[in-house]
Amino acid sequence: MTDTGTERQGIGRRGFMTGTAAAAVGLGAGAAKAADPGAGFTYEVTRSEAEWRAMLTKDEFHILRMGGTEAPQSSPLWKENRPGTYCCKGCDLTIYRSLHKLKLDKGWAFFRHSYPDTVLTDLDLMGGRMGDPFAEIRAAMEVHCRRCGSHLGHIVSLPEVPDRPIHCINGAALRFEEASA
Ligand SMILES: [Zn+2]
Repeated sequence: MTDTGTERQGIGRRGFMTGTAAAAVGLGAGAAKAADPGAGFTYEVTRSEAEWRAMLTKDEFHILRMGGTEAPQSSPLWKENRPGTYCCKGCDLTIYRSLHKLKLDKGWAFFRHSYPDTVLTDLDLMGGRMGDPFAEIRAAMEVHCRRCGSHLGHIVSLPEVPDRPIHCINGAALRFEEASA
């Protein structure tokens, strides 16, 4: 662990929502870059790139630390329906609970919301769209862990859930803990 607080500034949103994944949730395709978290902002949990790579698989690193998006149905958590909680794979912070999980067949884990004060949001400029004066207006809302800054997914609106925006989360970014009986 390091306490430089600079690591996340290196997180690009490369690999965001490619191809069919983007089309599935109506977000378009492209890549985006991370926003500067701000002068003086430090995540509670920070690690060097080498430390992150040592504790995560290659795919997990791409998602959590590079802002990538997993292929639909690549994580079994998209159809996990047992009672329990979901922790950030980067720092074990409990972020979601089964009570708020939605059964959607799109291949990612969807939640109505997170536990309070567990996530932060960022603008995902979807590749920046060079020269597009409305890039920020069109930007998707990215979701990351409040404690370690790891990318989790996005907040999206889907016609299947017309009453509110929901969290569309990469299963590979989470660890499921089944509730004890
Ligand atoms: Zn975390």
